[in-house]
Amino acid sequence: MSIARIPVQRSFCGRCSDRIKEALSAISDISNVNLYPMDALVVFNFVSANEISKVLNVLTELGYPEKGEKTTISMVHAIHCNGCFPPSHQNTNC
Ligand SMILES: [Zn+2]
Repeated sequence: MSIARIPVQRSFCGRCSDRIKEALSAISDISNVNLYPMDALVVFNFVSANEISKVLNVLTELGYPEKGEKTTISMVHAIHCNGCFPPSHQNTNC
């Protein structure tokens, strides 16, 4: 069991982190999913490295691609709420 720490390109609020966590929890072989809204950081335990690419796919689908990844964020299915936007409110809680 190893720990992955994945910084993502957008910050999220506490409410959205619950929804992201829920989506990630559907992936088998990962556990202890923790999201850090202030740091835009996703942390989880994984068994096989395959799981990391699954997590990255889900994060991208949710609108939170890994930092450094050259992915255009599609807001169509992206998880966010009024607490996350406009960007000037990004660091406040919902
Ligand atoms: Zn939000």
